[in-house]
Amino acid sequence: MKQFLNFIGGEFIATGKTFENRAPVDNHVIGLVHEAGQKEVDAAVTAAQVALKGDWGRMSVVKRAELLHAVADEINRRFDDFLQAEMADTGKPHSLASHIDIPRGAANFKVFADIVKNAPTESFQMTTPDGGTAISYGLRTPLGVVAVVCPWNLPLLLMTWKVGPALACGNAVIVKPSEETPATATLLGEVMKAVGVPDGVYNVVHGFGPNSAGEFLTRHRGVNGITFTGETRTGEAIMAAAAKGVRPVSFELGGKNAGIVFADADFDKAVTGITRSTFENCGQVCLGTERVYVQRPIFDKFVAALKAKAEALKIGPPMEPGVSLGPLISAEHKQKVMGYYAKAKAEGATVVTGGSEPRMSGALAEGHWVQPTIWTGLPESAGVIREEIFGPCCHIAPFDNEEEAIALANATDYGLATTVWTQDLATAHRMAAAIEVGLCWVNSWFLRDLRTAFGGAKASGIGREGGVHSLEFYAELRNVMIKL
Ligand code: NAD
Repeated sequence: MKQFLNFIGGEFIATGKTFENRAPVDNHVIGLVHEAGQKEVDAAVTAAQVALKGDWGRMSVVKRAELLHAVADEINRRFDDFLQAEMADTGKPHSLASHIDIPRGAANFKVFADIVKNAPTESFQMTTPDGGTAISYGLRTPLGVVAVVCPWNLPLLLMTWKVGPALACGNAVIVKPSEETPATATLLGEVMKAVGVPDGVYNVVHGFGPNSAGEFLTRHRGVNGITFTGETRTGEAIMAAAAKGVRPVSFELGGKNAGIVFADADFDKAVTGITRSTFENCGQVCLGTERVYVQRPIFDKFVAALKAKAEALKIGPPMEPGVSLGPLISAEHKQKVMGYYAKAKAEGATVVTGGSEPRMSGALAEGHWVQPTIWTGLPESAGVIREEIFGPCCHIAPFDNEEEAIALANATDYGLATTVWTQDLATAHRMAAAIEVGLCWVNSWFLRDLRTAFGGAKASGIGREGGVHSLEFYAELRNVMIKL
């Protein structure tokens, strides 16, 4: 039986207290995960502190950047190992994992190494009251030991998106992967060791949230900052833990994102775009669209076209040719999504397509499959329009004018992302300014330039990462004032 071990101070550590890691496609046991307790979390914090005082702490940014390039190269050399591990843990299609998860996961190390290596700091010269001169400049120092608490939907990508800049800035990290997806974080330990990243710089502790590795780590006073991606509710718990010691947090949280399609949009591109933003990764993308608003003249045509696209999605396991829709991550998550499917019906939705489970054969019958689902006809107060579902589903409602579309999009506590489809440049700019989100895509979705800011407004997050914005969290900016 495969064992997923903790990685602490450069060693793989068994704890003997294990839980099962199951495959979403057929619920078979992939392996046993060794849960870290307080003792292992303490050891990881100590290992990280020791690393900061050792070679790593003295290493130049140029040398760190070289090592991080080597990490990326080693991930790419072992591309297939990472791909197989990610597909086994998540069940996501090969086409998705091989184009997004693994290559972008590797790229995070190179891009942030180069950004941090080349980032300037400010400098000012001033005249002092005695008529002399002083020069001040900014100096960036690492935050210290950074806890990286990760979700299961894009395990390697969302973890390295934080580990990359954290290490480039000279921190040591302790990663707590999701209990659902322990594999690629563990594999990355092998990569770190192989390329010579000093022991204790990259650590992994496995386990759950409350009363387990997640809570032990975020409560630990030896942790100097916490970067977290996951549910808003979990963010609240972590923020309370971080309050002790006034430790900084960077949060990427949940969403209930609106997609807005104007009548003047390129129709086919808009349909294809909303198909992706609603159904990609089986709807388990924080940036995904669960509320679609379509301008009335094209409403019926759009609903029919999206229905046809949803029904054309091929459901199946990662390696089956042509598959574009995998399973949900777990039995528990399936129960939650199916609960919303039932709730939509109870609330009076018109089920345009889907609404139940697909029939799967053989061993796949034990997997966590759900049908891609579209609803219409619900009032905006309905639960499935208000709450994040995180499944392959959306509600589509008509709107008449721009003001109405803005009001609908903003009528939520969340503020992560939106996707707007129009050919009118002025409309696009007005919408981008008016919708309360961290990310606004126009005639596109999930298109990312790692040099740009990423994060959520309102209940969807705290802070921004990406490009030089990552430096604002992963480094302390010190001002040095020199009187000449
Ligand atoms: P989750 O909040 O349930 O878990 C995330 C991580 O937090 C896991 O590693 C979990 O073990 C840990 N955790 C749970 N409770 C904890 C606690 N009390 N203390 C410390 N750690 C704790 O989220 P999930 O179900 O893994 O992921 C799905 C959610 O993530 C969705 O809400 C989605 O919108 C969000 N998400 C947001 C972004 C973004 O960029 N904004 C990206 C991906 C996912």
